[in-house]
Amino acid sequence: MTIIPKEFWLILEGEKKPTIECPMCGCFLLSDIAPHGIREDGSVYNSVVCDCGFHEYVKLEGWTGGHIERTPKKK
Ligand SMILES: [Zn+2]
Repeated sequence: MTIIPKEFWLILEGEKKPTIECPMCGCFLLSDIAPHGIREDGSVYNSVVCDCGFHEYVKLEGWTGGHIERTPKKK
C-alpha cells in the first residue's frame, strides 16, 4: 500500500474521481475514465497499474470525497 500525499492527487473540474501522479514516473493515472472505486478512508480499489511498472494499492491522503463505487465494466 502506497500513501499518495495530498499534493500528488487532485480532482479535475467536472470529474468525480481523482487524478493521481504515479509515484514512480510522475505521469497521471486514474481520473473518471478509470474503473477504480474509492473507500471513505481514501483507499483505492483495485490496485493501480502504470505503464512504468508501478503496480500497487494506493491510499489518498486527505480524501474527503466519500465512497465512490467502481465503474462496472461495459459489455
Ligand atoms: Zn508510472
